[in-house]
Amino acid sequence: MKFPGSIHSKLPKVGTTIFTVMSGLARETGAVNLSQGFPDFSIPERLVELTHSYMRKGLNQYSPMQGAPILRERLAEKVEELYSAKYDPETEINITAGATQAIYTAISAFVKEGDEVIIFEPAYDCYDPAIEIHGGKTMYVQMNLSGELIDWEKVKKLINQRTRMIIINTPHNPSGRVMNAADMLKLQKLTDGTDIIILSDEVYEHIIFDGMEHQSVARFPKLAERSIVVSSFGKTYHNTGWKIGHVLAPKELMKEFRKVHQFNVFSVNTPAQYALADFLLEKEHYLELGAFYEEKRNTFLKLLEGSNFKVQPSEGTYFQLLDYSKISDEKDTDYAVRLTKEVGVASIPVSVFYHEKNEDRFLRFCFAKEDETLEKAAEKLMKL
Ligand code: PMP
Ligand code: GLN
Repeated sequence: MKFPGSIHSKLPKVGTTIFTVMSGLARETGAVNLSQGFPDFSIPERLVELTHSYMRKGLNQYSPMQGAPILRERLAEKVEELYSAKYDPETEINITAGATQAIYTAISAFVKEGDEVIIFEPAYDCYDPAIEIHGGKTMYVQMNLSGELIDWEKVKKLINQRTRMIIINTPHNPSGRVMNAADMLKLQKLTDGTDIIILSDEVYEHIIFDGMEHQSVARFPKLAERSIVVSSFGKTYHNTGWKIGHVLAPKELMKEFRKVHQFNVFSVNTPAQYALADFLLEKEHYLELGAFYEEKRNTFLKLLEGSNFKVQPSEGTYFQLLDYSKISDEKDTDYAVRLTKEVGVASIPVSVFYHEKNEDRFLRFCFAKEDETLEKAAEKLMKL
C-alpha cells in the first residue's frame, strides 16, 4: 500500500533505533547477540508465581492512573531507606510503562517550542527525538569517557534563560561510567536559583560496581526539589519485556507529569504491579544485583584477556565498551555489521549516540548473559 499524499514528517532525520537494527541482524545471521541490552536468563520464579496469583485473584482491570497504591507505598519506603529521600506515594510517585514512556512523558509535559534541553553525549537514544518532537532545541555536551566524565564549565556556558531541562543518566548507557557526588554538587550549584528541571535517568541504579555507591539526585535535597527521577523494573528484575518503570518528582512537577501520562498511557499492567510490590520486599535481590553483574563483567573481561580489544572502564550498567582500533580502522557502524555477519557477535556501535560524526572506535557489548553465551562470544572475539 502507498499513502497517496506527501508525508509531513515530524522527525525527518530519525530512522529505526540501533537496538532494533542490531538485534534484527543478530537474529537473521544467528550471531551471539550482545547488542540490545537484555538478559538471556530467567526472571525470578517467585515473580512469575506472584503475577499468576494476582491474575487468578482477579486483579486484571485498570489500575489507578498513578499506579497500584501498594507499589507506590513500597517504592516510597525503598527510596527513603536507600537515599534518605521522602516522596509522598499519593502525589509524588507514578508507575509508568517503562522508563522510555516516563522520559517521553516528562519531556512532553515540560518542553515547549524554543526551550533548550542540555544532554550529555554519547546519549541514550530516546532523549533527542522526544525533545525535537516537542519543538525543543537539544544542546549537547560531550563527555570524556576515559577521564573526568563531565566538564561542568561547558555546561555552565550553555545555561541561559531558555534552558528548561538538563537530562542526566547515571550509571550511564552506553559508556558504563557513573557520576560521583562531586558531579551532583556541581549540578546543584549550576541550577540553583533557576527554573531548570533535571530529568535523571537512573534505570541502572542498582547496577554499580567496585564498591561505588549510586549517586541518585534523590540523595541531594536541593537537586531532588527540581528533579524527575526515572527508573525501570526491567533492569532490576531481568524482565525488560514487562515494560514497567516509575517516576519520583516533587508534587508540583508530578501534577504536570500526570496531565500528560493520563492521556498517553493512563495506567500499566495491573497484576505485574502487585507482583512487583511484593517482590520489592525481597531486598536482597536489588541489594545484591551490583555484585551479580560485577561478576558477569569480570567473567567477560577474563575471557577477553590477551585479546586485541582495549577495555574501557565499566563502572556500572551491564555494558562494556571495547576499543577495536588495533583490529580495524573501519567506521564503527560498518565494523559492527561486519562483526555480526562474519564473526558472529552482535554489538552496538557507539557513534550512533552522538549527533555529529564521531571518530571513536568503540563497540558496546552487553554482558547480561549466561556465562555460556559470554564464552561463545569471547571465543569468536579472541580470534581477531
Ligand atoms: N534509559 C536508559 C539509559 C536505558 O538503557 C533504557 C533501556 N532499557 C531505558 C531508559 C528504557 O527503559 P525501559 O525499557 O524501562 O523503557
Ligand atoms: N536500553 C536497551 C539498550 O540500551 C535497549 C532498549 C530498547 O531496545 N529500546 O540496549
